[in-house]
Amino acid sequence: MRRRWLFWWCVILVMSMASPALAQGSTGQTTVHVVQRGETLYRIALAYGTSVEAIAQTNSLSDVTNIQVGQRLIIPSGPVNASVRTAGRHVVQPGETLAHIALRYGTTTEILAALNSVVNPARLYVGQTLDVSQMAPGHPPLTNGYTVTVAPGETLYRIALRYHASLNAIMRANDLKSPARIFPGQQILIPAAAEAPALQVLPAPLVGLALAPLPVEVGRSFRVRVVSAEPVTISGEFLDRDLVFFPEADGRTYTAFYGVYAFTPPGTYPLTLTLTTGDGASTMFSTELRVADGGYGNETITVPESQEALLDPAVNSAEHELIAGVMRGHTPERYFDGVMGLPAAAPVTSPFGTRRSYNGGAYDRFHTGTDFGGPPGAPIYAPAAGRVALVDTLNIYGLFTIIDHGQGVFTAYAHQTESYVQVGQQVEAGEVIGTIGNSGRSVGPHLHWELWVNGVETDAIQWTRVDFVAD
Ligand SMILES: [Zn+2]
Repeated sequence: MRRRWLFWWCVILVMSMASPALAQGSTGQTTVHVVQRGETLYRIALAYGTSVEAIAQTNSLSDVTNIQVGQRLIIPSGPVNASVRTAGRHVVQPGETLAHIALRYGTTTEILAALNSVVNPARLYVGQTLDVSQMAPGHPPLTNGYTVTVAPGETLYRIALRYHASLNAIMRANDLKSPARIFPGQQILIPAAAEAPALQVLPAPLVGLALAPLPVEVGRSFRVRVVSAEPVTISGEFLDRDLVFFPEADGRTYTAFYGVYAFTPPGTYPLTLTLTTGDGASTMFSTELRVADGGYGNETITVPESQEALLDPAVNSAEHELIAGVMRGHTPERYFDGVMGLPAAAPVTSPFGTRRSYNGGAYDRFHTGTDFGGPPGAPIYAPAAGRVALVDTLNIYGLFTIIDHGQGVFTAYAHQTESYVQVGQQVEAGEVIGTIGNSGRSVGPHLHWELWVNGVETDAIQWTRVDFVAD
């Protein structure tokens, strides 16, 4: 409260001192801002609801990065620049609270809640997008360097804790010889953090939890990465399926890949983790995760009479069970790395996830793969490294291949003319594994490409755009 009062008092004082010459030519009131230590033009623009460009133009600044402490800047009046206010958005991560997000972006919980119509701050969900563009006056974002005023009774240690900065870094930045040498009213520079601080409320031994990409969508995949203070046994559950974790090389980081079933109703569902340490102590953590709509369409498919027998649910389910049995595996090795390639040099003729009605029935099935309309005999490429898990001739899928990419990620290739690989064979990204064809239930030569994650079919194209290992 005191800081805000001080801020406005300064603004009023500065306004009253402003030279009449400065105010000439402007309509209405002129605001002059005196640049404080640690301030940037961007922050000043945000604080006044204007743009960097507008301030630069009004003050004839040629270099917007070069402003001096004590410099006077005329703040242009007029309508608030809408583009500035829409600049900042934050996607909620597990364990984050409204207060932490406010602190990180230099705003208050009240402003955040009002801007985003948050009625109950305890009910943030993971993947929720918040407008964080409006700064509270005098509250710079945590990731920039900035100054704070020492309050009576405050210690440097408490300031460091409060702003998630290291005590040593603050002492260095302010040339303080001892942490005891501070006094109420003193301006302390909080140096810019090397990286965004962890502002998550997580129970020990959990020290980090990140989901990507967000928002999680129906029919698409996400990665859960857990960092623990010590080696643990970790299990998890989301939407009635287990999260299967694999340790990274450091022995404290664990990764699980998860595919959201394509008929999951959009909504918010709990994701639960259980960490068990070597001494047998268990810690449970649960977070609400939002699953957004995947944006899939509908289509009606007419199957000729000669192939109607293949619509028999018994035929369908037997074949599906055979495939799903392979796809439920979790090979500990991760063969894939980075973004996947495309399996064919051909256009996509039918995307994943489209809700389908066969011969006038209900829209109770979905397109389980991505179709590429290639000519018969065109090569099929492995999109990533892996191990061949199945080569078989099936009723619906025809000549069919499954590649195991490890850690619950599989790709599959249907309606092939030829296959060049055998079960157990290692394949590299880009290797030709067979050719496009028209075998099985197919109405013309095409590749039906599937990608399964943790036991369900998901959108493969997402894996050609997102790096699920690094990002
Ligand atoms: Zn298909």
